Amino acid sequence: MSTDIIDPPVSEPPASAEVTSEETLHFDFPGSDIVLRSSDSHKFHVPKLYIVNSSPVLRELIQTVSETSDVANNEEPEPLPVVEVTVELPESGATLHSLLTLIFPIVPILPSTSDEILELLAVAQKYQMDSILDHIRGTIARQHPPFIRPETAFHVYFLAQKQGLHQEAVQAARVTLRLPMVIEDMRDKLEFSEMTGAYLYELWKYHERIRTGLKSDLPMFRDFDLPMSVKNLICRARTDNSVPRWIDDYIESITGAPHLFDLVEFEDAWARHIKEIRKCPCIDIPSQLRRDFWGALTAFVDGAIERVREAALTRHHRDN
Ligand SMILES: [Zn+2]
Repeated sequence: MSTDIIDPPVSEPPASAEVTSEETLHFDFPGSDIVLRSSDSHKFHVPKLYIVNSSPVLRELIQTVSETSDVANNEEPEPLPVVEVTVELPESGATLHSLLTLIFPIVPILPSTSDEILELLAVAQKYQMDSILDHIRGTIARQHPPFIRPETAFHVYFLAQKQGLHQEAVQAARVTLRLPMVIEDMRDKLEFSEMTGAYLYELWKYHERIRTGLKSDLPMFRDFDLPMSVKNLICRARTDNSVPRWIDDYIESITGAPHLFDLVEFEDAWARHIKEIRKCPCIDIPSQLRRDFWGALTAFVDGAIERVREAALTRHHRDN
């Protein structure tokens, strides 16, 4: 029982980095009646109501701690001022600080590295803070450059798997489709553990499912979804279905290596054909026709990815 707990920390001249970081992490919301203490001893004074409403897990924990504190304070005859209950949490001060900026109606502060952001998501998931999870994901989605992009996809995928963040693992796995998937190359790059091996195998299976899906959808795509304007393109080398051979080969190549679904790869295939068959009429393909083709191809690839995602979700729900 003391009022000085509620007061802001005494500001002394910053003698060390510790003091500076303490001040950076300062969080003192009006009406605070509990203290959350991080594993590295940062204290956050907050109104209990916000915390218990955002997390059923913390609600229970705070209740347990409060009951224990009541017993300890039984000898105290006077009911006021209110004693602030201190709740010890295993998270770091930096993580808790970010989490609190998302719980309270203030500007959210996301950590700067992807590792820390995933850690924050994992903590919110652990405390069953559903609306906070949405809030974090919404904030991440507005980031530029995107949080999950080809350069970060493998790293985010493995960390998300490790943290049990299914949604992020699926999103990252999807972005890895834009990269050539050569397991042998990856083995050298990854810090290999038993778990990493299992996640890598999952990822490899995911790529395999996408390839299988694309292969089985290919005949339907050729027959029904490839725009007529593409089928009617005049070219000196055509398939039996009268589609320019190079376009058909390009589509087929995607079913074996989805990262080839990329405008630059398409233009490369086109350039190779023009070089091979001199003066082929395909040297002029109207831009609208190219757009129509790309739109149809996008729907073909997305369709296969979406079906794999749905099947994975079904498996995930069945297993949990
Ligand atoms: Zn041609």
